Amino acid sequence: MQPLFLKPVFKERIWGGTALQTEFGYEIPTDTTGECWAISAHPNGPSIIENGTFSGMALDELWCKNPELFGNPKEEVFPLLTKILDANADLSVQVHPEDDYAKVHENGDLGKTECWYILDCKEGAEMIFGHNAKTKEEYIQQINEGRWDELLRRVKIKPGDFFYVPSGTIHALCEGTLVLETQQSSDTTYRVYDYNRKDAEGNLRELHLEKAIDVTTVPHQVAGVTPVVEELENVTITTFVQSDFFSVYKWDVKGKAAFSYTDHYLLLSVINGDGTFNHNGEKYSLNKGTHFIVPVGVDQFEIAGDCELIVSHT
Ligand code: ZN
Repeated sequence: MQPLFLKPVFKERIWGGTALQTEFGYEIPTDTTGECWAISAHPNGPSIIENGTFSGMALDELWCKNPELFGNPKEEVFPLLTKILDANADLSVQVHPEDDYAKVHENGDLGKTECWYILDCKEGAEMIFGHNAKTKEEYIQQINEGRWDELLRRVKIKPGDFFYVPSGTIHALCEGTLVLETQQSSDTTYRVYDYNRKDAEGNLRELHLEKAIDVTTVPHQVAGVTPVVEELENVTITTFVQSDFFSVYKWDVKGKAAFSYTDHYLLLSVINGDGTFNHNGEKYSLNKGTHFIVPVGVDQFEIAGDCELIVSHT
C-alpha cells in the first residue's frame, strides 16, 4: 500500500492566466490557463497516477478496478474533484444543479456542491455569492431586465477565507483570485451572465437561463461556515466543513506529525511549504503543488516538514 501521487490536467479558460505557473511551478499549456484539475476521475480530465504499482493508470480506471483502495465504496464514480482555479478575469455568473436534477438533465452527471479556500487574491478582491431576489418572479424579472448590480450579492474576500457553495447558489469568482476548490465530481455549470464578453472569434458564450432559473435557490440561503481549529502535536487542524458531500480541512504541519485514518481515503494538496510523507519506512517528498491520495490501508502515516495542506474526504 502506497500513497498515490497524481499528475494534474490543465484547462484553458477565457478568464485564466499564468498564476498556476508562477505560483505553483506547473508547466501550463497557454497564458490563459484557468484550471488545474489536480485530483480528478471525471471523464473530462482524469488524473494519472505517477508512482508505484498503478503508475500510468487513470484515477477513474483505478476506482473501478481496485475498489479496495477506496474502502469498497457504494458510489459508482469517484465522488470528488479537487481543482486550483486562477481567475485572472471575472468568471461568468453561474449556478450548479443538485444530484437529482443533474441525473435527469445532464446524462447522469453528479450535481455540484463546491467550496473554495482562497489561496491568494489581490487587495480588495471580491466574489459574487448569492443574490438579493426575494421570489422567483423577482429573480426572473431582474435577469430579464439585466439589473445585475441590484440582483447579485458581492462579498469581500482575503487569503485564507473559506466559502461553502451548495448547489443552487449563484456565484462567481472575480478577477485576481487564486482558489483551491473541492467539489463533487461534476462538470455541469449553468451560466447566468457573462458580462457580454466575446471570445477570440467574436462569439458570446452560451447562457443557460432556463436551467439556471430552475435550480437557483430563492431566496438566497447564506451557508456560513465557522472553522474549528484544533492544536495537536506539530500540526494545527482547521475543520472548514463536514457536509453530506465532503469534509474539508487545513493541516498546518510544523515538525513531525503523526496521523491515523482507518476508514477514509483522503485527498491531499500541498498549498505551501515542503516536507515528506512517511509511511512504512518510505519517504515521499511533498512540495507546494503536490497532490495525492492516501488510500484505505495506508492508515498510519507521518508528515514531516513545514507545510500546509488542504485535505478532504467524503
Ligand atoms: Zn461553480
